[in-house]
Amino acid sequence: MPLVPPLNLDAVNQQLENQSPRQILEWVWKTFGKRAALQSSMQKTASTLSHLIYSLDMKIDVLFVDTGVHFPETLQTRDLLAQKYNLNVITLHPARTMEEQRQDYGRDLYMADGDYQICCELRKEAPFLGWVRGRYDAVIGGLMRSEGGKRSRIRIIGEDDRMDAYKIYPLANWDEEKVDEYNERHEVPVHPLHFLSYPSIGCSTCTTPVAPGENPRAGRWRHIREAQEIPVTHLYCGINREDK
Ligand code: SF4
Repeated sequence: MPLVPPLNLDAVNQQLENQSPRQILEWVWKTFGKRAALQSSMQKTASTLSHLIYSLDMKIDVLFVDTGVHFPETLQTRDLLAQKYNLNVITLHPARTMEEQRQDYGRDLYMADGDYQICCELRKEAPFLGWVRGRYDAVIGGLMRSEGGKRSRIRIIGEDDRMDAYKIYPLANWDEEKVDEYNERHEVPVHPLHFLSYPSIGCSTCTTPVAPGENPRAGRWRHIREAQEIPVTHLYCGINREDK
């Protein structure tokens, strides 16, 4: 399905490449208005983007998928950001509880490579993509090229045909240092586990802290990676098309 409005992505990317996250978001607001939404995992980049959309008075929805197995701190961060910045946070849920899913499959899908992708598809992708398709023309995300792996090649604006929408990464040219500096300067609430050696935070079942010197994503699906000697940069949930 053709995306709305039709855009020459090469030209737009060239135009946005040297702009600040704030300028990129101004362009998003002018181009898409309320047909844009922010995808938020409640990690530190989402805090930055939440503050930016608040300071630009962008009245857009903030989409959060509650997989049912998040850390309590993730839900607290959602509520804190929503309250402080008057955000319209829409919490999406999978069709089944974790227990119902376990009964359906006769096992915990999150425990093994090959299975965990199904779990992420059921608990993250399906509710998210199903909600976005037809409701929004653009979704803003927090990926940064500095995260490495496949993310080092993201464009500021691309397409995601799974949801018939543009995908926009205003922080593509930033790194963790800039995000931390921004959040501190503006006193933005940040997920408390980031201060307890969790640089990357997903479901509580699949996230551990990292040791000094480890890759920031080493705590994600550690139980699968270490059992099968899978490199750190190879496991992602797939909600972002760029990680697939
Ligand atoms: S991160 Fe783990 S528990 Fe969460 S949806 Fe993916 S596999 Fe399932």
